[in-house]
Amino acid sequence: MKTTTLINKEDKLVVLTGAGISAESGIKTFRDSDGLWENHSIEDVATPSAFTRDPSLVWDFYAARYNQILEVKPNPGHYALKQLEDHLGDNFLLITQNIDGLHRLAGSKNVLEMHGSIDKCYCNKCEKTISTADVIAHRPASNSKTERYPSILKNKHQWFKCSKCSGLNRPDIIWFGEIPYHLDEIIARLRECTIFLVAGTSGVVYPAAQFLLMAKQHGAKTIGINLDAPMNVDFIEEFHQGKSGDILPSLVKKWIE
Ligand SMILES: [Zn+2]
Repeated sequence: MKTTTLINKEDKLVVLTGAGISAESGIKTFRDSDGLWENHSIEDVATPSAFTRDPSLVWDFYAARYNQILEVKPNPGHYALKQLEDHLGDNFLLITQNIDGLHRLAGSKNVLEMHGSIDKCYCNKCEKTISTADVIAHRPASNSKTERYPSILKNKHQWFKCSKCSGLNRPDIIWFGEIPYHLDEIIARLRECTIFLVAGTSGVVYPAAQFLLMAKQHGAKTIGINLDAPMNVDFIEEFHQGKSGDILPSLVKKWIE
């Protein structure tokens, strides 16, 4: 494997991870072959208006995702990034688009979860925060195979109701049409980083493409790791094709030797 990079303790490294690194831990996308979840488009269950229209349906979706994530573990790619953080300390920043919390579980500390986290919730009225575990604990048991909430009780007995007000607890996740978290800090760190690494995302779509461009314009070296070859080769100077779980551990070893 070719790598020309050495990462020194003085380097400021920013990493962006995407769905690919979670997929290697077995996280499913919840889309079937039609791109739907139980006949609903993802946009029908992951927007603020979907939650206003049918909060039970949205919670069915997120309860299923939450329960799945309880069963998965970080993979060698997550642990390799933790090793990089141990090497660089505060000069390391991990930005992730993933909501599964696997980077934190692997021990990473300097993590910005730009799309939120599935283990946290907040009230859509008073904004009181609560853990998803505490919300889900009130979810009635369901015998249905798909763990759907019994439709007869839909929106009547709202188990996800806020304990302090008449609002509803919602997952602390950035939905379509909402603004990602930490953008100011992300932009500031991209402007001063010396190396920007993108793993588990193609780098063609927002936000990876814009982040790559910004880091490069400010003089950072750009490195990509992904299953598919990058489309925007102009933005990625060093590219490694494959799974991050296979590639990152040995790369990190070489980078910090
Ligand atoms: Zn409330």
